[in-house]
Amino acid sequence: MSILKVARLGHPVLRQPARDLTPDEIRSDAVRQLVRDMHATMIEYGGVGLAAPQVHEPLRLAVIEFSGENERYRVDEAQPLWVVFNPRVTVLDEKTEGFWEGCLSLPGLRGYVERPRRIQVDYLDASGEPQQCVADGFLATVCQHEFDHLDGVLYVDRITDPTKLSFVEEYARYHATGQDEAQEPDLDSDGPRV
Ligand code: ZN
Repeated sequence: MSILKVARLGHPVLRQPARDLTPDEIRSDAVRQLVRDMHATMIEYGGVGLAAPQVHEPLRLAVIEFSGENERYRVDEAQPLWVVFNPRVTVLDEKTEGFWEGCLSLPGLRGYVERPRRIQVDYLDASGEPQQCVADGFLATVCQHEFDHLDGVLYVDRITDPTKLSFVEEYARYHATGQDEAQEPDLDSDGPRV
């Protein structure tokens, strides 16, 4: 298992649409190893999600995992490791929910992003089999953040109020107390606890 190097803002791989994997590729030793390394990398940096383009692999693959007991995210839900290939998102509820997001590829920053709060995800699992699930709340936001990476989109592209982009320290000092920002997701950020 290896900790992989994470691409940062400005690297072209983050802006390039990723390609689907075939079921045979998904079951290959190389991709299984990539999934293990991505999971280890996500844990190493304290993230809750990581997309393959962030580790310089332009493939439609993301891993998501978080614990409700992690005070860093202050979310009262938990998501066991979820490996998602070739996801397709259908919005089930256009009403949005906003979170302060972070990203391993933009270290030290937070930004407030509103996204549809309930989505359906059609995808292939680690066996290459088609699956479908519904995600809402924090998980819906994590999914949309990670799957955006597969289209070359970063969370900063989704910020509608530019005054709500902040360094982590200033976020903690000036922005973390608002009622509508009571929840504090880090997504794949490596920012410190606040
Ligand atoms: Zn990210």
